[in-house]
Amino acid sequence: MLPVKTILDARNLLKHLQQEEGSLGFVATMGALHEGHLSLVNRSVNDNKFTAVSIFVNPTQFNEKHDFIQYPRNLEDDLEILSPYPIDLIFAPEALEMYPEPDTRTFDFGGLDKTMEGKQRPGHFNGVAQVISRLFDIIRPDRAYFGEKDFQQLTIIRELVRQLDLPVEITGCPIIREADGMALSSRNKHLTPEQRTAAAGISKALFLARDLAGKLPIDKLQEQIISLVNDHPLMQVEYFEIVHEENLQGVRNWSEAGGKIGCIAVQVDKVRLIDNINFSS
Ligand code: AMP
Repeated sequence: MLPVKTILDARNLLKHLQQEEGSLGFVATMGALHEGHLSLVNRSVNDNKFTAVSIFVNPTQFNEKHDFIQYPRNLEDDLEILSPYPIDLIFAPEALEMYPEPDTRTFDFGGLDKTMEGKQRPGHFNGVAQVISRLFDIIRPDRAYFGEKDFQQLTIIRELVRQLDLPVEITGCPIIREADGMALSSRNKHLTPEQRTAAAGISKALFLARDLAGKLPIDKLQEQIISLVNDHPLMQVEYFEIVHEENLQGVRNWSEAGGKIGCIAVQVDKVRLIDNINFSS
């Protein structure tokens, strides 16, 4: 299927679809597609009559220009990967199509965007909110699918939808991992074989954290996990936080009510990776 490059063409195609009855599912991606993305596409295809996928490396969510330039892009490969799926629209605009003028909107997500990724990557979630609200406005999906791999992003998108009162249902989908536990990510493509082997230690540390949950005080567990990962000379932990899954505020005691999640960001040489583990599952 050929990608649609303009908003006008996307809207025309969608108008055509809407003449038939049935829900529209949507998966937003930045391309460099892998099984993690495909799990969202599969879910959308199963849940809905129509599915739209976007491929757009959104400049406004990158707080580092170098990271934006280096981000892997290969539209040809992505189209090939999507070709077996019954997708009704692949929307792959250029940046100027999405932002003919600079997007100056600012969002406030309360405490949700002040911690973890929000703290380490200033402006990142504002950019995410800009592009997702814009994509929702263009595609107008009934349902949209996001990975729990980016747990904080998923929480913020739910809040965005709540704040703007958008008529879209957000579904979170489980993290897809390699056989050794490593979470799939487009950024894994940048890892050398040696770094890739080291990076498997991130998910191993998270699985250990799950085993130790409730058995060690929160701060001791954090220390243990951070030093386990940092013991590897190629890896440096940016943060490992244990937070409440609803409000992303730090958990002080395992006895506190509600779901808890451990989120980690690790610099593996120049490649920054994130992962998380749900302590309730
Ligand atoms: P990205 O292309 O990195 O912006 O990701 C697009 C969507 O795919 C987001 O909702 C991600 O959370 C999701 N995603 C990325 N990696 C995975 C994974 N390993 N498992 C499940 N979903 C993922």
